[in-house]
Amino acid sequence: MQLVFATNNQNKLKEVQSLVPKRIKLLSLKDINCTEEIPETTGTIEGNAQQKADYIKEYYGYDCFADDTGLEVDALDGQPGVDTAHYAGPQRNANDNMNKLLSELEDTTSRKAQFKTVIALNLNGQLETFTGICKGEITTKKQGNDGFGYDPIFKAEGYEQTFAEISLDEKNKIGHRGKAMQLLIEFLNNC
Ligand code: IMP
Repeated sequence: MQLVFATNNQNKLKEVQSLVPKRIKLLSLKDINCTEEIPETTGTIEGNAQQKADYIKEYYGYDCFADDTGLEVDALDGQPGVDTAHYAGPQRNANDNMNKLLSELEDTTSRKAQFKTVIALNLNGQLETFTGICKGEITTKKQGNDGFGYDPIFKAEGYEQTFAEISLDEKNKIGHRGKAMQLLIEFLNNC
C-alpha cells in the first residue's frame, strides 16, 4: 500500500515511515512530482488539513494524509489559529510572529494557549481526522535556542522550560504533532 504524506520535509517523512507498518510505503510530495503550492483556503485548521489531503487524492490519485497546525491563544479568542504561519505577514518569519504575539499580550495576565495539530487522512475517498492538542502558556519573553516557530515563547502545562529548552524526544512525547501522529499510526496499524 502506498500513502502520500503531503510534506516536503524528509525528516518528518522518515520519522513517520519508521512507525507505520512495513506494508505501507510512504511517499513525499517530491516523490509524486507535486511541486505546486497546495491551496489552504478554508479558514480553519481542520479544513486546511482536509483540503490538502483531498487535493492529492483528486489530482494525483493517491491516498494521502496531511497535517496543519495552529497556535490558539485564549486572550485573543483563539488567534492566531489558522493564521499562525503568517501572523505577522506573508514573510512567514518566526521572530516577527513571536514579536507580534508578545506585543499583543503585553497588557494581559491571561496567557493560556494551546497548539493544535490536525491530521486528515483521505483513504479510498473516506475522511479520517486525528487531533493532537498541547495546552500551555505564552511566556513574557523568548527563552531557549532549540526547536522552531513559536517554540521559544511556548511552555507546555507542568513545564518550567519552553519548547525551545526541552529535548526533541520530550517535545514529541507531549507535543501536539506527536499526539496526532500517534493516533494516525494506531489507525493505520489496525486497518
Ligand atoms: P504547519 O501547519 O506545520 O505549517 O505550522 C504552521 C505554523 O505553526 C508554522 O509556521 C509554525 O510557525 C507554527 N508551528 C507549528 N508547529 C510548531 C511547533 O511545534 N512549535 C512551534 N511552532 C509551531
